[in-house]
Amino acid sequence: MKILVFGRTGQVATELQRQADVIALGRDKADLSDPTACAAAIRSHAPDAVINAAAYTAVDKAERNEDAATVINGDAPAAMAQTCAELGIPFVHISTDYVFDGTGETPFATDHPTGPLGAYGRSKLVGEDAVRAAGGAFVIFRTSWVVSAHGNNFVKTMLRLGAERDRLTIVADQIGGPTPAADIASLCLAAAEQLADDASKSGTYHISGAPDVSWADFARLIFEQSGFSPEVVDIPTTDFPTPAVRPANSRMDNSVTKAVFGLDRPDWRVGLQNILNELGL
Ligand code: NDP
Repeated sequence: MKILVFGRTGQVATELQRQADVIALGRDKADLSDPTACAAAIRSHAPDAVINAAAYTAVDKAERNEDAATVINGDAPAAMAQTCAELGIPFVHISTDYVFDGTGETPFATDHPTGPLGAYGRSKLVGEDAVRAAGGAFVIFRTSWVVSAHGNNFVKTMLRLGAERDRLTIVADQIGGPTPAADIASLCLAAAEQLADDASKSGTYHISGAPDVSWADFARLIFEQSGFSPEVVDIPTTDFPTPAVRPANSRMDNSVTKAVFGLDRPDWRVGLQNILNELGL
């Protein structure tokens, strides 16, 4: 199956290229700021399926650049999904827990009403809605707290800070599921294959690593597994203000993913060990 991927250097895009012989388009080949160019890239490569692993992921910066974020996270996936629908090929798209309002303490179901708290979440919701409306075979995977051995993520930040400091204050009242990019990539590839045979699998799904954890407890596990030993002190979100409001509850219900794709929530502790091994720790 010839799979075209938008994104080349990102966390999920990198894992997709490791796991399959895909054509990955970097920003130089397809800039998501130009949705028409994305549609043209799909037509010229004539793939059997498209996976969009590119996005405007700078959550805080998006607060000041919502228009740019909305083109990249909303209009570009809209153009991709529309083109895939016209060509009759599956489109796999990645979204986020930030489309929810982060209230409560129970996992969000896939059909729970959305209510983004900020610009990034709003821009991703524009993309979701457009993909659902395009009329083709599609899967949207909402994920959370993506981690890998490359790019920018919480594991990499903790390893850097853990080597520099004896004591770290980490937010303890935001709870979610860290998700290895490798697990997202393998699910995207499986979904592309399965959608080509069975368009009735089209829909919106969740993939988040288990167990749910606070950032502070996640940090403790990272240090425990990597051999660093800074003291981790719990703090409330109010002590760590950021331009974009973070959801307090990022728990997501993965049961529909299990029912349709047969995938249990990946254990992020296993994924974390793989990442540390890859980093030589
Ligand atoms: P990264 O931030 O690691 O990578 C983003 C990718 O998008 C990069 O390859 C980047 O290219 C590309 N990109 C950004 N802007 C453009 C543009 N204008 N044109 C073309 N490419 C562009 O992303 P992740 O792999 O972490 O995220 C994958 C998906 O998961 C995204 O949809 C994201 O919204 C979603 N997600 C991520 C979470 C996280 O914690 N990271 C949490 C929840 C959902 P370049 O290298 O050239 O900058």
